[in-house]
Amino acid sequence: MKFCSNCGHPVTRVVPAGDNRHRFVCEHCDRVFYENPKLVVGCIPEWQGHVLLCRRAIEPRRGAWTLPAGFMELGESTREGAQRETLEEANARVEIGELYTMVNLPHIDQVHLFFRAALQDLDFSPGVESLETALFAEADIPWDELAFRSIRYTLEWFFADRREGRFITRTEDLGPTAPMPQPRG
Ligand code: ZN
Repeated sequence: MKFCSNCGHPVTRVVPAGDNRHRFVCEHCDRVFYENPKLVVGCIPEWQGHVLLCRRAIEPRRGAWTLPAGFMELGESTREGAQRETLEEANARVEIGELYTMVNLPHIDQVHLFFRAALQDLDFSPGVESLETALFAEADIPWDELAFRSIRYTLEWFFADRREGRFITRTEDLGPTAPMPQPRG
């Protein structure tokens, strides 16, 4: 950021008194601009053993497959955000269930949350951010064409847990390059 959104003067990057991190600060009106990680919320829409995926129509990772997910908006809960993103990306109605994965991505300042969800009907279609929407059985998941590591992490655990007949909330910190932990029961 270059200018103060409060008064329009240029901002500087300094450690404010009593703080221990660099912040954008306006020395004209004394406002401090705190930046915090963003939450991405999504779900795993299930229908009779299949999972609904969307093929992305937008960058990053245009053309790759994803679970419906996106940045949480102001004024909504995480469940509402996951439901809204599913409606926007797949024109699909879901009943959001329990939180399933929480993936910390500190190198990009994001936290991704995925809920289990029951797809309510088969009346889904690509939203403006999707090229294609489809139900996949486990054997047909396009593992090499998934958009993000948090998607792969969530789907790998999902199918591993389903084989075990029970679902446990999974939390992981994924660094920029470290190998991704495999499901280990
Ligand atoms: Zn200012």
